[in-house]
Amino acid sequence: MQVIPLNQAVDEQDWQALLAGAVRSSQQLLRLLQLEHSPLAQQLGGDADFPVLVPMPFVALMQSGNPQDPLLRQVLALHDEGRQMPGYVTDPLAEKEANVRPGVVHKYHGRVLLIAAGGCAVNCRYCFRRHFPYADNRVGRKQWQQALDYVAGERSITEVILSGGDPLLLDDSALAQLCQQIADIDHVRRLRIHTRVPVVIPQRLTAALQEMLAGSRLQTTLVLHINHPNEISSELVQGLHALRRQGITLLNQSVLLAGVNDDAQVLCELSEALFAAGLLPYYLHQLDRVQGAHHFCVPHERMAALYRQMKVQLPGYLLPRLVCEEPGQPHKTVLQV
Ligand SMILES: *Cc1c(COP(=O)(O)O)cnc(C)c1O
Ligand code: SF4
Repeated sequence: MQVIPLNQAVDEQDWQALLAGAVRSSQQLLRLLQLEHSPLAQQLGGDADFPVLVPMPFVALMQSGNPQDPLLRQVLALHDEGRQMPGYVTDPLAEKEANVRPGVVHKYHGRVLLIAAGGCAVNCRYCFRRHFPYADNRVGRKQWQQALDYVAGERSITEVILSGGDPLLLDDSALAQLCQQIADIDHVRRLRIHTRVPVVIPQRLTAALQEMLAGSRLQTTLVLHINHPNEISSELVQGLHALRRQGITLLNQSVLLAGVNDDAQVLCELSEALFAAGLLPYYLHQLDRVQGAHHFCVPHERMAALYRQMKVQLPGYLLPRLVCEEPGQPHKTVLQV
């Protein structure tokens, strides 16, 4: 296997090479972490439609020899995924209904979500998008135009959210073009980018990307997806600080995951580490009941107890809102616990 040094100068080719060199099998991942003889090796499974995918910078943050590593647990495909469980479905958010055009999900007032890219740089095993029909939402130039026409025709839309898949898999020039086309729509004021790429490949935060986001007329927010403090590398912090200096708002959302971050101390440390990196905790999501992810579910009582402890320990601005998504609701549901 080709191992790419992580300390190269940051440019576009580096992140693309790191993506191309990502680990693509559970066995390989276990070998890299010297876990090939651990009991975990007997629990591997997976799903050909949602293969293992983990870039090396993320692997480098895992602890060698630790089968409980919270980063490993998020990306290792286990046999448990194949079990059918009552209540766990392929489209838990009923997003197909809000999929108003190819590549456009319009569920909430004032903001619209564009599926800017079909894939991700990492396949998180708990992901609610693992069964999403990306093939029907492949966004070529023609679909781009249709999506932009939809936004232009809906004057209530003031915020465009680029999501996916992961929009930061687009290269800088494609992204710049898309952002420009969005900025050309008068009634859009804000651009939001939901991404996990910089977490698994911090080299993605190129100088060109920073300049492009800073130069836009739109008020821009980057929402990262980090679940555990160990995911925050010094390279990531460096890139985020540069974005903050350019006036980009930085938020984070997490998912509450059994075996990963279902511990009050870990969640509090996460909030602190996020803030130190320049990110405000935005949402803590309850796991969506997607088929194949039941082993990440934290029972309601335990979730409530964890959140109450966070309330006691954290200043208000470091307490993420605990939310879930209920199909048909016009907003995310804030859980009162
Ligand atoms: C979560 C989500 C949003 C954004 O919701 P906020 O509460 O504004 O963060 C927008 N569209 C869709 C389809 C979503 O799932
Ligand atoms: S990066 Fe986000 S969308 Fe992609 S697999 Fe992970 S959780 Fe899902």
